[in-house]
Parts: sequence; C-alpha cells; structure tokens
Amino acid sequence: MNCCVKIDINGVVQGVGFRPFAYHLARRYGLLGYVSNETSGVSIQVEGEKSRIEEFIEKLKTEPPPRAVIFEIKHREIGPVGYTDFVIRKSNDQPKKFVPISPEIATCKDCLAELFDPDDPRYRYPFINCTNCGPRFTIVTDIPYDRKFTTMAPFVMCEMCQDEYDDPNHRRFHAQPNACPTCGPGLTLLNHKLEKIDVPDVISEVCRLLKDGKIVAIKGLGGYHLACDALNPEAVYRLRSKKYREHKAFAVMVRDIETAKRFCYVNGEEEKLLTGTIRPIVLLRKRPRCPVAEAVAPKQKYHGIILPYTPLHHLIVAESGLVLVMTSGNAGSEPIAYEDEDAFDRLKNIADFYCIHNRRIHIRTDDSVSRIWRGNEMILRRARGFAPYPMLLKFNFRERILACGAQLKNSFCLTRDNFAFMSHHIGDLENLETLTSFEGGIEHYKRIFRIEPTLVAYDLHPEYLATKYALSRDHLPKVGVQHHHAHIVSCMIDNGIDGKVIGVSFDGTGYGTDGKIWGGEFLICDYLEFERAGHLEYVPLPGGEKAIKEPWRVAASFLYKIYGDDMFGLDIDFVKYLDRKKWAVIKKMIDRGVNSPMTSSSGRLFDAVSALAGVRKEIYYEGQAAIELEMAATGEAGFYDFDLENAENRTLILLEPLFRGIVSDLENGVGVESISSKFHNTVVEMILKMCLNLRKGRGLNRVVLSGGVFQNILLLEKTFSLLCKNTFKVFTHHRVPPNDGGIALGQVVVANEQAKK
Ligand SMILES: [Zn+2]
Ligand SMILES: [Zn+2]
Repeated sequence: MNCCVKIDINGVVQGVGFRPFAYHLARRYGLLGYVSNETSGVSIQVEGEKSRIEEFIEKLKTEPPPRAVIFEIKHREIGPVGYTDFVIRKSNDQPKKFVPISPEIATCKDCLAELFDPDDPRYRYPFINCTNCGPRFTIVTDIPYDRKFTTMAPFVMCEMCQDEYDDPNHRRFHAQPNACPTCGPGLTLLNHKLEKIDVPDVISEVCRLLKDGKIVAIKGLGGYHLACDALNPEAVYRLRSKKYREHKAFAVMVRDIETAKRFCYVNGEEEKLLTGTIRPIVLLRKRPRCPVAEAVAPKQKYHGIILPYTPLHHLIVAESGLVLVMTSGNAGSEPIAYEDEDAFDRLKNIADFYCIHNRRIHIRTDDSVSRIWRGNEMILRRARGFAPYPMLLKFNFRERILACGAQLKNSFCLTRDNFAFMSHHIGDLENLETLTSFEGGIEHYKRIFRIEPTLVAYDLHPEYLATKYALSRDHLPKVGVQHHHAHIVSCMIDNGIDGKVIGVSFDGTGYGTDGKIWGGEFLICDYLEFERAGHLEYVPLPGGEKAIKEPWRVAASFLYKIYGDDMFGLDIDFVKYLDRKKWAVIKKMIDRGVNSPMTSSSGRLFDAVSALAGVRKEIYYEGQAAIELEMAATGEAGFYDFDLENAENRTLILLEPLFRGIVSDLENGVGVESISSKFHNTVVEMILKMCLNLRKGRGLNRVVLSGGVFQNILLLEKTFSLLCKNTFKVFTHHRVPPNDGGIALGQVVVANEQAKK
C-alpha cells in the first residue's frame, strides 16, 4: 500500500553529506519525494510502499554519514502528493529556527588520494575538499549552510566544479567549499617585509625554507600557525625567543601515525584520535631518545602531537619530510591571528615568511587539545573539530541563557531548547584582542543559532572581564554562579547525572561567597545550590595575582604561617636562597593584611610545594610549577600527615603537618622525585578522608572531580583509583574541559535552575 510520510531531522545534518545520502537511500528503496535543508535541520518527504518507507527511516537512523549527528527524527503520515521523482530541493529559510553547524572535518581518504594523484585535476591543490571533509564552521557567515553564506562566496565555480556540485551521484554534490586550481583559492608567499615572492611553486618553496630553519607563518583553517623544523634546536630556540614563550610546550605535527609512534607511545584509542576526522593535538608520552628538540617541550614527559588535517598540511609534511612545530600564530597570551592584516601586524617580529591564501577565515578557532585517560577521551581545549557542536541536555532550558564563562581559558555558552552551544576556546581575557574576540564570538553565535538571550549568567569574581561584560548587559536579568559550583555542575552534565553529589573542585582561582579566593573545595551540591562542606585552610596570598606568577611567595607564606620568623632557622635551600629584602616587604604585606587575599586554592598549594622543593619558583605560563612538580614524581608510596578540623559546620584541612613533613625531608636530603610523589599521595589521602566523612554524614556516594588541578594526570589517576577502591562512584571530565574552559556550561545549568525559583 502506498503512503506519504514527512520526516523532520534535527541535528548536525548540514555540511556533512546528509542530503546526497538521503537521495541515494530513497532511490535504493524506490521512493519518490524530496529532501531539503531547512533552517531547522533536514526535511524529507517520501512517497511509496509503507514497509519500504519504514526501512528507509530505519536506515536514516542507523547508517547516517560519519560526521552527521542526529538529535531527533520526527515523522508523520500526510495525504498523497503524487511525486514523480526524488529530488534535492533548494533550501528554505525559516527565520526563527536554527540548525547546528558542522565543525571542520579533516581531509578524507578520497580527497587525499586525489591530492597525491598526478593525473587528477586537483593534484597538489591545497584546498581540495568534498562533502565528507573540509572547512565548515570557520567559513560560515550565516545559515542555512549554503555557499552564499560562506567565505567561498566570492569564488565562482568553474564548469567542472559546478558539474560536480550539481551531480547527486558525485562526492562533491553540494560541497559548499568545492574548488579547484582553476576557480578556487590559491597560495601566496610573502617575505617578512610582506613582499610577494614569485616562485613557480609556493609549496616547494615553503618546504625549502622550513628545511633551511626558517619560521614560516602558515594560514590554516581557523587561524595562522607558526611553523619550523622541530628537529632543529636552533630554529625552535629562535621561535621561542621571538614568541616570548620561553617554556610552554609547542605542538608537533608529524606526517603519519608511524612517525608519531616512533616519537611517543601511542595506544589504540590515541591512534583513533590522531587519525580521526577531528584531529586534535593529542598529549602522548615521549619515548626515550625522542629526536624532537628538547626545547619543543622542555621538562615535559609528553608531546602534543597532531597529524595533518588540511590538504596544505599534508602537502608540506609529505614533501618536506619534516616534523614541524605548529604553534598558534600569536605572541604571548594573545589569541591566534586569523585575519591577514592582523597576522602581518602581530607576527611581524616572529615570522620570516608568510604562506597565505585568499579564502577568508570568518571566525578564529584554535587547534583542540585532547588526551586519552583510562580509554576515554578527555578534552582539555575544546575548539576546532568540536565547536560549535552543541551539548545535548536531558532537559529543556526555560530561558535563552548566555553564560559568560571565566577569565582564563574563556569560553562562553548559549542555550535554546535542550541545546547548550559551548563556544570554541576563546583564550585568557587579559587583553583587548581576546575581549574583542569574546564579544564578536557571542554576536556570531547569537546570529547563526538564532538566539536572543533572556538571561545572563556570570562568575562572581568582580574583576573578571567576562563578569564585567555580563553586568553591563542592561535590561537582562542576571544570575551570579559560584566558580566551583559551576565546575562541578559542568562535570555532572558531562556525565549526564543530576541530584546531590560530593563535588571536589581542585582549582587555581575561584571567587568565593565570602570574598576569599577558593580552590580546594568540597561541595555538597546539585544543579540548584551548593553547600561548602570543607576546604583547604586559608593562607595569605601576598601580592595577589603576583603570587600566582611567583610561587615562591606562596611557599614563604606557608612557612611563615607555620614557623613564624623561626623559618630562617630551617636548614633548607629555599630559605637559604630567599631574597631577604623582598621577603621583608612581603612579610609586612602579610602582617598588615595588605594586598594579601586569603586563599584555599589547591593550585597554590601545588605551587608552594613546587617552589619549596626547588622545582620552580617563578612561572612563565599558567600551571607551570604544578606541571613540573607532577613531571618530577616517580611513583613512590607513602604520604605526609595532615589534620582535619571541624569549624562552623565545615571541615578544614590543616596543612601544617604536611609542610613540616616536607621540610624535614628536605633537611634530610630526600630527593624532589620522592617528595613530589609523597605530596601527590597526600592530596589523594585528603580527598579520600573528606569523601569518607561526607559519605558517612550525608549518605552520598557519588564523587565528582573537577577543576584545573585535575588536569594533573598523576593526581587524577591516584584519586580515581583510591576512591573507586573505597566503592565510591566517581565522575570525571570527558567532553567538557576540567579547567575553566568548562565553566560556562555549569553556569547555564545553575542559572536555569535558579531562574525556576
Ligand atoms: Zn573529502
Ligand atoms: Zn573549479
């Protein structure tokens, strides 16, 4: 019996080859009708035998194109239409609806085969793409996803490209960025004076320059990279000094998985991540005698490895045979440069040459950073390849919420229905560049996802630029969300859980409801509210922000709290080499309570121990002291003492025994490796003891671990296994970063609950 069914598909279904897939499927089942992109997703009508339509719908659900993400398929029978064919119809714009947009997709196998085939018209064409791969989000200016709403609009397709684009049987059918050497974008090489260099072949010349030790700024998908030969220490050193980045690790691009395996240990999950369609930077443990220059990732046990994900990358690494440093095109903590003029201006003292192209990048997106932990992905920087995929929640948001996120590693979040659109990584909101990127990003997301916020959520820290931005949104109701509450809730959403939990938020800085700086927190919380059940004892942070850059101040502050002026009688290097003049000033600050906010931050505790043990007294990037302390640990058993004290309905963790233990070890000449291991074990014991107490008192058995300090994989692993051993149900981060990059997601959920009240 014949019937006609209307099918509406919601999800990431545009720009991923969904219509050709539906077209072929309909033909296969002998169905008539049409498929079209709508602003709200993909719409299909099929007419034919009922059983065949049912099979058709089943296949839509079970065998969609690899990069499609279906949230929902609705279908209903409608009256007969009398279709005579199955066609792909032109897009309809429905102004208030929206459709999720696909992120960038790494070059597919078919395109790669063509790229390296001398007989192919796109042989060595650095902009080759198809419906299964290529740029997406970074070139989209508006929706629906059509060429005219992308930065490919100025390029008029040649006859060959147009024929492919129009042919439902072709892999490039409606591939919006479709291009070839005749009609598409091209490369240009410039020297540092921005003079065009005329060479017969830009790619060969770029390869030659890189082999020669030069630094080349390469325009990519979401911004400029700075590239140099990673096996050439001199080139790496030059890049470091020019970029004002003396210590932080650079990402390394290798040509293939075999090379990655020669440099680092790679397990099956990591291989999948490296060679998949997203291709983030993956943190991998270095092999002994890894030939990459030490200056690429100094004092690190890991390399950030990335495989080529654009045709241009593929050509450069294949033809040069080089292993490349591929770091964001910026200086210091600025956001990645993505507009040509801006890149020329900001990279002028760094790049020797520029390899640019004329396909405009509409929105900047950094490389994502990920790692595998216990067989699962843990995203540390959520950007290219992930954004702007929304998180799909189990409930509908009552309001359209804009959450402004935190100060460092900022990302924002917008909601509608049951979607939370987490933005790509914006960066540290410390300079005008990042702030502009933050504001522009919000406007762009509002437009392409058709969201006009009705509520604004913000962090309680009054000095955060994101908070100031939120508070300046006149006419909109606002909800302040405590930093660590947001952390824990973001991890709960990541794991799809709700109700009351024990939240352990170990973090750097988070403004507390008492005006102090929190960061070693045990919360009893749900989506709506939290109770501070315990925390690390407070210690003065002399100089505030300055103490974060100079961990020795925190170490000195702890020693002073414990030993008073007797600290100078301790037989340890830290005291011997302490600058007495500087200390005199700092001591005054502490005694008088001037510019010395009180903090319970675990990040600062790690800093203090790092400085005390002589690992790092000053830092050049966020978390450096703690990271180097983690790298120093060898895995020894045993831990230091600590005390728990009940005060005002909460438990304080007292650190005096810990510091006395470390000092005594230092006096006895115990090595830093062993001190670091024992210190890690101590923190794990603290967490266990607190959780055991809270389980006993509150009857809660679920523990949620969040906050930047849990990027420390040694701490995470030990905490997780010890809690599990004690039969806790433990939840950690996967798709949402544990650091402040995940805060905005927690903010929207808490604000949504509070708005209900
Ligand atoms: Zn392709
Ligand atoms: Zn063409």
